[in-house]
Amino acid sequence: MQIHLKTLGCRLNEAELESWAEGFQAKGHHLTDSVENADLLVVNTCAVTQEAVKKSRQIIRRIHRNNNKAKLVVSGCYASLDEKIKQDIPGIDLLINNQQKDQLVDITLNELNFESMPAISTEPGEASIFKRGRNRAFIKVQDGCRYRCTFCIVTVARGEERSRTEADIINDINLFQQQGIQEIVLTGVHLGGYGSEIDSCLYKLIKSILSNTDIPRIRLASLEPWDLPENFFSLFSDARLMPHMHLPLQSGSDSVLKRMARRCKTNDFKKLVQQARNEIPNFNLTTDIIVGFPGETEEEWQESINFIKEISFSHIHIFTYSKRDGTKAATLSNQVDSAIKKQRSKQLHALSNSMRKTELTNNIGTTHAVLWETKNNNAWVGYTENFMRVELNNESATEFENQISKVKITHVSKNAEHCIVELI
Ligand code: SF4
Repeated sequence: MQIHLKTLGCRLNEAELESWAEGFQAKGHHLTDSVENADLLVVNTCAVTQEAVKKSRQIIRRIHRNNNKAKLVVSGCYASLDEKIKQDIPGIDLLINNQQKDQLVDITLNELNFESMPAISTEPGEASIFKRGRNRAFIKVQDGCRYRCTFCIVTVARGEERSRTEADIINDINLFQQQGIQEIVLTGVHLGGYGSEIDSCLYKLIKSILSNTDIPRIRLASLEPWDLPENFFSLFSDARLMPHMHLPLQSGSDSVLKRMARRCKTNDFKKLVQQARNEIPNFNLTTDIIVGFPGETEEEWQESINFIKEISFSHIHIFTYSKRDGTKAATLSNQVDSAIKKQRSKQLHALSNSMRKTELTNNIGTTHAVLWETKNNNAWVGYTENFMRVELNNESATEFENQISKVKITHVSKNAEHCIVELI
């Protein structure tokens, strides 16, 4: 989806716009400077003076006039103060007041039903789980995929598997480190297939990165839960390989997985996760689920929910199935009704939130090394080795950005989205 963002007013409004931009991009959407080409328009209004109010109203009207096919979301101070704005100005699809601004991206995608599948199924893992930043870089190690999952357009879009050489990859990592990067994320369309055509494998690649670079943190992006080389989990005994894996399950029902032509059925997935949890201390597991795949019956959905509960994930990236021309799934009969898809997605979001709260709560009292990324109001925000988001309340002028510190988790935040820590 193409999104045009517009703001008026203070620097805070601009900062919010930036964070929405990152949020939408992380969910696989694109930003555009053109109002006319956008599918979604978002305006952050201002009410500091009468002039600002007038300007906010003018911009909303103009932007809607220039593209009345796009959905229009309005937020900011003016939108929060004037309750009649929706009646007064035509074309507004969604109003988001200042209290909900932090969740603007999620609310918009949910309410306007935009949370559909990305073009390439493996993108959600790398794009939505990790954000690029001044301390984190993505290293693409391979492209293409030899499989034919029926919802995925990747084999058409990206072709056969091709791996980069170890030397090239190591060179990139060392260059990034010289620029101050502390953490790299190895990515690939079918990351587990790395090296298949150059007589190598992901195990060898990671071994070589560990031996030939000093980068403090190495992460793996989305990894299909099959084709993992032998002894793979033993690699995590090196503390520089971060104990988090994003293994896309896609459905917890074997008959749905069969229609998806996935190579990993629920029993295989369960065994893999048990092995990872046994071998990797503090292991954190996240996943992708597609809701409403063609023909998904109530019984299959219930099976899926039960399996997801049994495994338990700290985060689920939820995608509502949408037809993608050129894929086999688009030709399947029994496409699921959109009201049912919406209701299932809501149910899974609620389950995912409660599982996250449990996972975060289970970590209270544990100690971690955190790489600090940014300061949000008076709190430093960073991630533990196992990719839990944590915040440190710190009013002093100490700069923590791009530093790694030892912390202890004291409690879970009020919104149950991250943990609060203290330095140790
Ligand atoms: S394994 Fe399946 S979902 Fe993953 S990239 Fe290949 S075809 Fe797409």
